[in-house]
Amino acid sequence: MTIKKPFENFLKNLRTASETAQLSDAALAGLEAPEAIHKTEVVFALDSGEKMTVPAYRVQHNSARGPYKGGIRFHHEADLDEVKALASLMSIKCAVVNIPMGGGKGGIQVDPKKLSKSEIERMSRAYFRWGTEQGIFGVNRDVPAPDVYTTPQIMAWMLDEHEKVLGFKSPGVITGKPLELGGSLGRSYATSQGGFFVLMKYLEKIGKKPEDTTVAVQGFGNAGAYFAEIAHKAGFKVIAVSDSKGGVACDCDSDAFDVNKLSAWKKEHGSLRGNFCQGETCDISKMKSENVKTVSNAELLELDVDVLVLAALDGVVHAENAARVNAPIILELANGPVTPEADEILEEKDCVVIPDILANAGGVTVSYFEWVQNRSGDVWEEEFVISKLKKVMENAYADWMKMKDQYDTSYRNAAFVLGVNRIVTTMKLRGTI
Ligand code: GLU
Repeated sequence: MTIKKPFENFLKNLRTASETAQLSDAALAGLEAPEAIHKTEVVFALDSGEKMTVPAYRVQHNSARGPYKGGIRFHHEADLDEVKALASLMSIKCAVVNIPMGGGKGGIQVDPKKLSKSEIERMSRAYFRWGTEQGIFGVNRDVPAPDVYTTPQIMAWMLDEHEKVLGFKSPGVITGKPLELGGSLGRSYATSQGGFFVLMKYLEKIGKKPEDTTVAVQGFGNAGAYFAEIAHKAGFKVIAVSDSKGGVACDCDSDAFDVNKLSAWKKEHGSLRGNFCQGETCDISKMKSENVKTVSNAELLELDVDVLVLAALDGVVHAENAARVNAPIILELANGPVTPEADEILEEKDCVVIPDILANAGGVTVSYFEWVQNRSGDVWEEEFVISKLKKVMENAYADWMKMKDQYDTSYRNAAFVLGVNRIVTTMKLRGTI
């Protein structure tokens, strides 16, 4: 059992980048410490009438490039250390894709699976009321979005609460909203689409075609499931997927492994386990006699595939299991899934890690597009959104490769250097350092 230390991991990566980019002590210190840490205890009524109290946070890391931007997660492990790490990654991520936003993150330390829909609504509203009344959230100040276990519906409740407190409409205060309330077309699958664009560029560089590329996806939530669908449609052989309860893998070509049916099943039943579809929907136990087997999350990480997509939580590839990863390419759709210790082991094995701050930045990029649309009152067509996303991701990919060549450093460090340099430039322009 490894102990997670997400903020320490962030600091390690930041300090490596600082050395490479030869940052001044003041610049490094400015990036190490979040600008503000807000803590509260959210109190809300359970359906039984009893009150529940849960710790909640909003960390505002850096606003030199624009308003704080970043999701809110509901998770029992979302403590202050994790939220600080995630807020800090957001600042770097927004800079890597060159959108004019800073970095922030919110978290409520709770297991949302134990709450009813109405309890989640009351908790979400109480959290956002606190953040609005305290002047934390605001369209030009700090703009949240969905993250782990938070949905467009939750964004809608939060927006409604914000506008009730303000007494006027302000749809740009939160992104990832339902379309009917000012959400952007393309936002629901933007994280996966952005990761896909970056992966395509990398495969193009090494001369590998989708139809010759096998893929395993750990995490079948929003990002993982959309990625599997997009990759399957583009001709990749997606041959394994898993969620928190376990997964399935197929020793077959991709046609036998119907990703769309799996994701339809997951949407309907909330979990992959207990079902696998091959042609007709069928029970997984029946599949054992054919080419499909159940796999644990640990087993999925070790499969012999070309691309391992990490779309679950942080710290899943660590010092103890990194040596057993067989995939030569990892795409980090989750935040922080590979620890710095694992990075070193993977680099020795020549495994290319396309880092979170680039690979999953499509989500925040389309969030930024949503914010722009809300502030201008415009509604963009889906095709336009995706073509703009493609441009942003491909530009970021090219900038990242330039850093990689210029500094002859790891892929993660090249992305960190790119982001950090952009933030430091704005801090200097503002005169903060
Ligand atoms: N939670 C997502 C992330 O970690 C999206 C943030 C946003 O859209 O602001 O990048």
